[in-house]
Amino acid sequence: MIQSPEDTIAAVSTPPGEGGIGIVRLSGPDAVAVAARIFVSSTRRDVARDSRRVFHGHIRDAQGGMIDEVLLHVMRAPHSYTREDVVEINCHGGAGPVAAVLNEVLRHGARLAQPGEFTLRAFLNGRIDLVQAEAVADHIRARTNAGLRAAAAAASGAVSKELHAMAAELADALARVEASVDFPDDDLPELLDESLRQRLENTRARMQALLDTAEAGRLYREGASIAIAGRPNVGKSSLFNALLRDARAIVSAQPGTTRDRIEETITLSGVPVRLVDTAGLRQANDEVERIGVSIAREAMQAADIILFVVDATSPATNADVALAEELRGLDRPVWIALNKTDIARGAALPPAFQGFHGPTPVSALTGEGLESLEKGLAGLLLGDAHVAPEQGLISRAHQRDSLHRAVEAVERTLARFGDSPELLGIDLRDAIQAIGEITGETTPDDLLARIFSTFCIGK
Ligand code: GDP
Repeated sequence: MIQSPEDTIAAVSTPPGEGGIGIVRLSGPDAVAVAARIFVSSTRRDVARDSRRVFHGHIRDAQGGMIDEVLLHVMRAPHSYTREDVVEINCHGGAGPVAAVLNEVLRHGARLAQPGEFTLRAFLNGRIDLVQAEAVADHIRARTNAGLRAAAAAASGAVSKELHAMAAELADALARVEASVDFPDDDLPELLDESLRQRLENTRARMQALLDTAEAGRLYREGASIAIAGRPNVGKSSLFNALLRDARAIVSAQPGTTRDRIEETITLSGVPVRLVDTAGLRQANDEVERIGVSIAREAMQAADIILFVVDATSPATNADVALAEELRGLDRPVWIALNKTDIARGAALPPAFQGFHGPTPVSALTGEGLESLEKGLAGLLLGDAHVAPEQGLISRAHQRDSLHRAVEAVERTLARFGDSPELLGIDLRDAIQAIGEITGETTPDDLLARIFSTFCIGK
């Protein structure tokens, strides 16, 4: 396990650029002492002794020259983000003042923090577990409201609490299993009875329920992509724009004007979705179009869903049927939007379109049907099991892998329930270990280092 460090770290915690305030943050045993060396209080208070938490004054350099007028927030251990002494120097928010203050702090005994090192310390000092630490990073990076709420719930401990409860149940079962190994001939009451099996079954179901939130959690965090396909002039760009509700893409009555991949992000049921307008799969006439076509194919292959736009005024041309076959070959879920229903209704689709989702009648021109199209697409992404972001979701691949292993281990325990207690013990220990990898108790150091290295500096 990585050791809790003894040194004092510092970093700029606000983003680069100009703003009203810039914050230089210090954490560690010397945080207050370092600040006291460079700070002159306007009311002559001694930062190192005074129990007040906010001080007004100036940061001065070695020659006594004034660097900036600041507010100093002193948060004494353990009542701070890292559980160490923390000082936040609020100076003016520009590259100059922030760099000058940081420089002074570094000259007086602090060292520059690594990415995520403040949060790593909060984790090592037991203020938060690994799920919460990762949720802090997700919270900062959230791109939709649902993503924000999911991260906030996990950061406040909703997921951790659930995992700890599961681990406690498994540890209790393990204690009984071990007792029956140790005292097989004693007249102990039957330890491995039906009620224990039932409790394990309940725990397994609870673990599976949390595992079932993984896909929604991943989507809220990472987002998804939808590629719009269709032959020229069916209204792909119009639909792209209608879904965006602005005019980002080029719209033209001339076929073949959308030559590049154009993408924008929209929100579908809380999921940030990259919407990719493609050049359409058609015979490439020249080099530029050929490039456009291959980019389109790539976008479709990488997409979570292909939105296949069909013109309701002529829904079954040879080009449509050929394209349908081509899309089927890509092996991605395909949703059909039957566009231009403001001028053509009740179009019948050929058998080549069978097996695709939809069709949803829409009009990019009037906006009709867009809502039900969005609902359908969101449903396809998130699946039937509706999970509320605030219930606490797991969202990362390593969490999913570990929880999956834990569920399998409990399933093995249940399958062998009548067998020898030694075997049950092995599986239960595996399950507890796997849950501990999610909360951080048994996470290998290299994985921990990898997780924290993706954080921003100053967090
Ligand atoms: P793309 O080549 O598939 O991207 O098609 P565009 O979006 O450029 O649209 C081709 C033509 O169809 C343009 O003249 C659009 O105004 C028209 N169009 C697109 N959507 C609709 C619709 O829902 N109803 C009607 N009536 N016209 C549409």
